[in-house]
Amino acid sequence: MAEAYPHFELTPTLDADIAAAAARVRAARHVVALTGAGLSVESGIPPFRGPGGLWTTYGEPPMDGYQRFLEDPKAAWEARLNPKKEPWLAGLSETLGRAKPNDGHRALAELEADGRLACTITQNIDGLHGQAGSRAVAEIHGNYSLLRCLGCTRRFAGDELAVDPANLPPACPDCGEMVKGDTVQFGEPIPQDVLRRCYEEVGRCDVMIVAGTSATVFPAADFPMEVLRGGGTVIEVNPLPSELTPLATVALQGPGGEILARLLDHVRNPSAQLEEGRA
Ligand SMILES: [Zn+2]
Repeated sequence: MAEAYPHFELTPTLDADIAAAAARVRAARHVVALTGAGLSVESGIPPFRGPGGLWTTYGEPPMDGYQRFLEDPKAAWEARLNPKKEPWLAGLSETLGRAKPNDGHRALAELEADGRLACTITQNIDGLHGQAGSRAVAEIHGNYSLLRCLGCTRRFAGDELAVDPANLPPACPDCGEMVKGDTVQFGEPIPQDVLRRCYEEVGRCDVMIVAGTSATVFPAADFPMEVLRGGGTVIEVNPLPSELTPLATVALQGPGGEILARLLDHVRNPSAQLEEGRA
């Protein structure tokens, strides 16, 4: 899956580095993955900003989106139900709706199925980890296809909650509070249940695989630092050097799909020769 990075060349030591990373994954007690937008680029989801970015193409969502929702939830819901009024929302929904998981998402799902990966924390709202088969996923910024109760944090998928356009915003059947899209908007706090779970996972984590993100934005920025402070290992998987690279225990440079698939292969089929003296 290197198509997204046509000019990328693998470094000569990469295979040995992947083997070393795999040895740490096999020896770990509690592996957690932390993923970001870079992992979904290979699934055809452009980054938000920059040339060809979603917001560059469709316009940016309002920087005070959550405040606007709270001030007039009915109007915010009307816009959600009629996304043509908000081109950025229509563009986002269409792009995310088309996207399919790539080899990187699949490799993490397989690691989880093998009992090697406890949880995937993601900054992505595209739901591709779940589509790839991952079960233990903490979506820091929500999931664009879900709704969430602002009272009890219950999530609603698809037609689980009937939304009546004549009676907006919809109310939670459990607690009566209003329901909004699960995607965390600008100005909106990270949902407490997700944040708590992230800190629980990070607190137990001794090996963290960071893929497709430089983890520079709160709260994700804290997670690899916390693992390193506790004496754990951080394995970085990014196509280009990032702010995390000098801090990472092992930095694997390359497209997430290819590198994670090879990491999975090494975890499943350890090569004693390559790892000797490196792990
Ligand atoms: Zn509720």
